[in-house]
Amino acid sequence: MEESREDGHAMHSRREFLSLATIAALAPSAIGSALAADPSPPGAPRPNAIAPGEALSRMMAGNARYAANTPNERDYSSGRAARAQAQYPIAAVLSCADSRVPPEIIFDHGPGDLFVVRVAGNVVNRDLLASIEYGLEFLGVPLVMVLGHSRCGAVDAAIKVLRKKATLPGHLPELIRTLKPAVIVAERTQRGDLLESAIAENVRRQVAALRNSPPVVERLYAGRKIDIVGAVYEIATGKVAMV
Ligand SMILES: [Zn+2]
Repeated sequence: MEESREDGHAMHSRREFLSLATIAALAPSAIGSALAADPSPPGAPRPNAIAPGEALSRMMAGNARYAANTPNERDYSSGRAARAQAQYPIAAVLSCADSRVPPEIIFDHGPGDLFVVRVAGNVVNRDLLASIEYGLEFLGVPLVMVLGHSRCGAVDAAIKVLRKKATLPGHLPELIRTLKPAVIVAERTQRGDLLESAIAENVRRQVAALRNSPPVVERLYAGRKIDIVGAVYEIATGKVAMV
């Protein structure tokens, strides 16, 4: 046991050294361009250099097409060569892992259009925050959307744990801990259905958490370079509504 712990420590140190050495070998400007991998000529506007409101309009128009069952026709093969060179997503979407909530489809967008991070309950954690920071800083994403959805099993589980003292296996209790505050607020303020209220409250809390996440997201949001919005997807109708 002791031995394997030491091995782990040695491996960790080696990895740390290698990554530091790799970073040290790159000039500061090279770090950005290596991560961004943008082949467009210097000074040329990126295709996704649009206002956050414009990105939101395009997404909501896409959702209207999806909800009306009139999505755009897509030729997935035609853009492959261009996509192999770069990506220019117009928004980062933090959505639930629920199989009924695929952001590209419900916003009627194609590969390369949305930078999607998904986790049960659409909560912000450090790894997801790092992914969103990458999307903003290196891909030039102008908009972040936290997308909750109706009938969310993760939020429902948090309600059951709080109300019925249900116990959950594995690492699920950690996720429930993150969701609990939204349920407690929803219980205090709810007018209608508790699950619906908690889902909307959780979205609002995650939006607030992102807006106050230093250093990258907070700086870009405070400087009005990006917008961060919250929405809920209604599975039964296919419609997305802002919260
Ligand atoms: Zn869910």
